[in-house]
Amino acid sequence: MLNFLIFGPPGSGKGTQSVHLAEKFNLLHLSTGDMLRAEIISGSELGKRVKGLMEKGELVPDSVVIEMIAHKIDSEKMKSGFLYDGFPRTVEQAVALEEMLGRRGMKISAMLALDVDHDELVRRLMGRGAVSGRPDDQDIKVIENRIEVYRSKTEPLADHFRKRGIYRPVNGMGSVEDIFERLCMVVETN
Ligand code: ADP
Repeated sequence: MLNFLIFGPPGSGKGTQSVHLAEKFNLLHLSTGDMLRAEIISGSELGKRVKGLMEKGELVPDSVVIEMIAHKIDSEKMKSGFLYDGFPRTVEQAVALEEMLGRRGMKISAMLALDVDHDELVRRLMGRGAVSGRPDDQDIKVIENRIEVYRSKTEPLADHFRKRGIYRPVNGMGSVEDIFERLCMVVETN
């Protein structure tokens, strides 16, 4: 089983590219952001617990997302592997994922890391907010906080996976098609 991580700041295009990659390489796309938003819409206890944090652009507790991912890994048998989008986002989540996969005889194949300029991130997120209605994409303060949370808590993961020899940086500027081609090259040469 393949296990790819797609990595990068909010607005770097992880979600968009994940949909295309999952289809082309027969991977199950696991987006913790989508799973959490589904919990909020369903009105579950979990959804109520995470709503405020997400609206402020803060991370939800590690234990919540680790448990959600663990359930999904065991539920899927029909695919060639998994594409993790927006997870792991902290070193603790990364270690938990490595342990989860290790217990099942699997490992992380590669981290596909999208590089995008700060101004381009803000531009894309504001654009998305105008059409999607996502509250965390509509307020410049929340957007800047998410980028800040990313820099302080998530970016250190790049070093963690660089040390493992599986960090693969990809230029995330340009058209969706061009970026997709760059990502495919990395996946195919993995
Ligand atoms: P983006 O990458 O554009 O910020 P996501 O949909 O990946 O969008 O995440 C939206 C929000 O969901 C985050 O700001 C955070 O509050 C929460 N979230 C998603 N994934 C995680 C995670 N792995 N750990 C903690 N919080 C998460």
